[in-house]
Amino acid sequence: MFKGILIEKDDAGVRAGVEELTEEQLPEGDVTVRVSHSTLNYKDALAITNKGPVVRQFPMVPGIDLVGVVEDSAHPDYKPGDEVIANGWGIGEGHWGGLAQRARLNGEWLVPLPEGMRPQQAMAIGTAGYTAMLCVMALERHGVTPDDGEIVVTGAAGGVGSVAIAVLARLGFKVVAVSGRPEEADYLQNLGASEVMDRSVLDGPGRPLAKQRWAGAVDVVGSHTLANVCASMNYRGIVTACGLAGGMDFPSTVAPFILRGVTLVGIDSVMCPRSERVEAWRRLSHDLDLTKLETIRREIGLSDAVDCAGQLLEGKIRGRVVVDVN
Ligand code: NDP
Repeated sequence: MFKGILIEKDDAGVRAGVEELTEEQLPEGDVTVRVSHSTLNYKDALAITNKGPVVRQFPMVPGIDLVGVVEDSAHPDYKPGDEVIANGWGIGEGHWGGLAQRARLNGEWLVPLPEGMRPQQAMAIGTAGYTAMLCVMALERHGVTPDDGEIVVTGAAGGVGSVAIAVLARLGFKVVAVSGRPEEADYLQNLGASEVMDRSVLDGPGRPLAKQRWAGAVDVVGSHTLANVCASMNYRGIVTACGLAGGMDFPSTVAPFILRGVTLVGIDSVMCPRSERVEAWRRLSHDLDLTKLETIRREIGLSDAVDCAGQLLEGKIRGRVVVDVN
């Protein structure tokens, strides 16, 4: 028997709680992992609270991230005792995920825990931090350098935003953090933001083109914020869009794209090819000051995760939530 959060659906509705589970209940897969830590991402919070259509089949163990030790493997690349990370590929959505003490997975989904990174640090980064790294890599791929000018990061005090600021600052970029929480200004500056802007500046309807300010952007908010970011990019600026914390709509015009040559780069972490994932985790072990994670992360137990999910959706959680599942 092992413990896990189970989301069940019946005539009374959908509910989530900690349950005793058995190995026989685990889904198919060629690697069984003894999970040490998982995390609570925006998507997990939507799944646990049933506020968004994340779970594709019931019952479901949520948790799009996990780190742990291989217990049993029929996959040639993994043997018992190996430390591994898994995130994305539909775990916690269509395949039982990380918010349990055991997981059975397809070995192709696993990434070895980078050398020098502790399991808690990997989960303090988690899908949010790895997505932040995918955004940074996309900016670099499109040629953005620190000499080009400022980078704007929206949803700054959240998980993606916090790690994006820390990585960009470490790489020498001047980062402007956009947040709705002025009380987090010290936190954001400590991560490396050179300026903190109130989110109200960007979150209403704006003009198709505004004063040029940014060389690059990491946007987790979507909606008017993303439209206003696009409108205020420098000529040929690069916007990476990965989130919808403010809405799924995109009330923009083509003006930034056809008059200023702005590029909008979509970032998806879930189906991202394995080679890019391994590179993102390698870069995180290099280009993120792991000591910064101590201010970014907080740790909770499995039984706290259900309550915490509601707070996360209300925007009350700063940084990253690591879940010690044991
Ligand atoms: P968090 O909840 O940790 O952070 C989101 C942040 O967005 C909040 O902290 C807040 O920042 C800001 N925010 C929240 N609500 C609003 C609003 N109504 N208007 C404007 N800003 C708002 O979530 P994550 O950082 O983990 O994820 C952020 C987004 O990225 C989510 O939409 C998530 O689904 C998406 N995501 C996408 C991935 C992908 O593969 N594309 C992978 C991972 C995440 P502040 O308080 O500083 O204003």
